[in-house]
Amino acid sequence: MPYVYVYQCDGCDWDTEVVLAQEFRVTPEGDRAPYDYPAEGLVQWPPQRVSGLRSRLWCPRCRATRELVLVQLDEPAEHPVQVFLAAEARGMTGAETGPCPECGAELQVDPEGMPCPRCGTGRLAGIGEYEP
Ligand SMILES: [Zn+2]
Ligand SMILES: [Zn+2]
Repeated sequence: MPYVYVYQCDGCDWDTEVVLAQEFRVTPEGDRAPYDYPAEGLVQWPPQRVSGLRSRLWCPRCRATRELVLVQLDEPAEHPVQVFLAAEARGMTGAETGPCPECGAELQVDPEGMPCPRCGTGRLAGIGEYEP
């Protein structure tokens, strides 16, 4: 399951979420979408397949969250545990960072203290975390 960290501006209440290690699937259109766990006791047909793990991290240059693909399986798997095993096999923890897909700047896992993109004077501060 992914982990979500909520940050809020201490000046204007603008908020944003950093998401670590979210399972994703690839839609028939070729887009990445969140993989939703089937409800308990429900059988999905056709079964959803899971394609990999992604994060949404903070780009200090774009001043926005951007997607970072951590793991993409060659063949989509039937169970999400397979993407976590693939990540583990690569020695990943889920908190890896990488370049912003838009501007190439190094993405930040923790945007604590970064300037707010809305008011420009406030700073982002972590206010909570949850597992969706
Ligand atoms: Zn960027
Ligand atoms: Zn602000």
